Order: sequence, then structure tokens, then C-alpha cells
Amino acid sequence: MIKIKLLITTGLLILLIPVLDKGIRPSPNTVLNQKNITSKVSNEISQIIKTVEATNQQVERSQTQLSKEENNQTKPAGYCLNVPILMYHHIQPQSTAIEKWQTNFTVDNGTFDNQMAYLASSGYTTVSLDQLALALTNHQALPPKSIVLTFDDGYEDIYTYAYPTIKKYQLKTNLMIPTGLMENIDYLTWSQLKEMSSSGLVSAYNHTWSHANLASVSQTKMESEVQTAQRQLTDNLGTSPKILAYPYGQISQNITNYLSQNGFLAAVSTIGGQIQCNSFIMTLHRTRIGNSPLSSYGI
Ligand SMILES: [Zn+2]
Repeated sequence: MIKIKLLITTGLLILLIPVLDKGIRPSPNTVLNQKNITSKVSNEISQIIKTVEATNQQVERSQTQLSKEENNQTKPAGYCLNVPILMYHHIQPQSTAIEKWQTNFTVDNGTFDNQMAYLASSGYTTVSLDQLALALTNHQALPPKSIVLTFDDGYEDIYTYAYPTIKKYQLKTNLMIPTGLMENIDYLTWSQLKEMSSSGLVSAYNHTWSHANLASVSQTKMESEVQTAQRQLTDNLGTSPKILAYPYGQISQNITNYLSQNGFLAAVSTIGGQIQCNSFIMTLHRTRIGNSPLSSYGI
């Protein structure tokens, strides 16, 4: 199954690269936050920023479809909690999303506000990813109708459009941050992240350093992607529980073993499902949310 996924993913990437080069506008004035970065790595990062968005759209979608089939064959095992983990990327006006070619991974900010109002009025309790991880590990209960909100990739629109709603309804929120991309155009600054984090509502977690596909890089690169991101989060925010989201949803046994052996509490995948179990704490399941009412996603 993993081999098939890899083949499909690799094929998609190869097919997409020429399209992506034409489709994504270059980002002038790109500023990198690593002072001692080499120009070679700098070029690599610029390329990553250009391609990450649209590649996300294609690869994570195909991964979710494949994983759903796999998930349907898997019976929950171990200590389990019914806690949906919602997955968002961009929150911004639909008109901006159209201009920026980001519609597939955007929830309109007005729609998002309605979705959060629904959660607040329906008795849901938002919890952080580390609360969920600890409850699963220690076999503890969470409040009834607990739910987790995750936002991948650290886009600036989260600060501009989602954060006001998060404060309005006092929601616990989890941001999955590719730390090396911060401070670039359309990405959060560390200052914005610190401000949100200090509210006590927003937690930030590891989404690798350069949004690398961890399943397709060397062992050394995989380890440095994970460790550099973790160090930068801790350096900038003071603390960051060791929880990771896999870029492009790409997982391997080698990576989950590495995380387990290096003190990670949990990791989130793009596999669909709302029941979370300690037996797959390194591939927790998520529900991708679009512009429909939350009730249509089983929430
Ligand atoms: Zn991502």
C-alpha cells in the first residue's frame, strides 16, 4: 500500500512541477529568517515556497482519498476517544483566494466565523493537541464533545482572519508550523506567532523546517528537518510540546519510529476519521474542512 502511495505521489509531483512553475507567481523581496543560511539552501527554500501550496492541494488530497479507503478497513484498537481533529489551511475572503489561486485550500473567513459560532453554540469544547495526546497516553477522558482545531502551514491569513474569530469565541487552536518558511511573504512572522501564543489560546507545533516530504528524504535530512523545527519553535516561543504534522500527509514506519524514540507525544496525519486511539498516536486522523457547514462533515 505504501509503495502504491509513493508511486502515485511521485508521479503526481513529476506531472505537477511544470504546471506549478507557470501557475504560481514568484514572491519578490523574499526574506529568509536564517541569517547563516547558504545561498544554495536559500534557492531551495524559494522553490519550496513557490510549489508548496499547489503541491499540497494535489498530494494531500490524493493521500486523503487513499487513506480513507485504508481507514475503513481498520478497526479502532487500544484506548480511543471520539475527538474530531479539524484540518484547515488558509482562512481568507473567497475573492482573495481566487486571486491567489488558493481556493482549494481556503475556507472563506465569513464561513469560518459561522463554523466556529456553530461549535460554540453546540456545546463543543476545543482542546489543544497536547491535551488530546496526554489524554490518549494516560487513558484519561476529555470533556464531552471535545474537538481539536488545526491549521497547517503557518499562513499569515490565520493571524489576519482566523485569529479575531478565535479570540471572539475563545477557542483553543493549534498551528502546524514549517519554521523555515516563517517571515516570508504570505507566511506568519515570529512576532505574530508569539502574540497569538501568548494569548493562551494558540499552540504551535512542528510541521518540519522546510515543509519537506519526510518520506522521500535521507535519514539525516529527515532528522534535521524535525529537530531544527523543534528547536526554532522552542527558541522563539519558549515552549513547544513535541507534536508533528506530516507535510503532504506522507508517513513511513521509519519516521513514526523516529518520532516515538525521540520523545514526540503524537503526530497528526491526513488520514480521515474522528476516533483517535493510542494505538495510532503517531498518525492521528483528521477531518478536512471546506466551505460547507460543519454538520456536513459529521460534526
Ligand atoms: Zn502542510
